[in-house]
Amino acid sequence: MLTAPQFLPERLKSVLSRIDTAARDAGRDPASVRLLAVSKQQPTAAIAAAASAGQREFGENYVQEAVAKIESVGDARLTWHFIGQLQGNKTREVAEHFQWVHTLDRERIATRLDAQRPHFAGRLEVLLQVRLGDEPGKGGVTADELPRLADTVSRLPRLRLRGLMCIPPPATDEEAQRVPFRRLRELLEDLGRRGHALDVLSMGMSEDLEAAVLEGATIVRIGTAVFGPRG
Ligand SMILES: *Cc1c(COP(=O)(O)O)cnc(C)c1O
Repeated sequence: MLTAPQFLPERLKSVLSRIDTAARDAGRDPASVRLLAVSKQQPTAAIAAAASAGQREFGENYVQEAVAKIESVGDARLTWHFIGQLQGNKTREVAEHFQWVHTLDRERIATRLDAQRPHFAGRLEVLLQVRLGDEPGKGGVTADELPRLADTVSRLPRLRLRGLMCIPPPATDEEAQRVPFRRLRELLEDLGRRGHALDVLSMGMSEDLEAAVLEGATIVRIGTAVFGPRG
């Protein structure tokens, strides 16, 4: 892999071409899959380079680092997605600086984000993070508790519930990678039958984006393959 910063446009292009190929293999329109460039632990210069190459959506995990970078990049064309673990004492900054949150998993955090979302900013687009089983981290609502949380979140006026997100443990072969992604898609379809109009599946990272696209991902979250190793 070409890791030096000057190769960023090439890496970006190669990720977009992986998405394109996977979408065609799945019989899907490549435009139905968006690339979220995960810029955590990457310098603002790398974000600016990706923005000059045409990338518009960025994902960050750590609130303080993210807010500093969002302000320093200062590019109003960019959309920022919070994809890290959400803590109660950080919700205000997330509600004020991000357009999307992928990792909502508790009612208490949802009501805080709703209360703290500034009125000039429009509704906060939210995804519920689902814990499918053996995830290494602690985050995520269980499949059993998902319908109830979806009902609660969809009633909050400053949030707009858009879909689901998952972070499965790494697996090497594509068949194994597809299992949790398929499960997340089925959970989205189930919520649809319960009356929720959801259109977003955030799944797939550098190592498993093809499997995710084959199972219906509409946002893939790619860090290393776009930016190179994290500093
Ligand atoms: C870091 C991170 C990514 C990107 O991972 P890569 O393997 O570098 O592509 C995606 N999603 C989440 C939630 C992350 O924390």
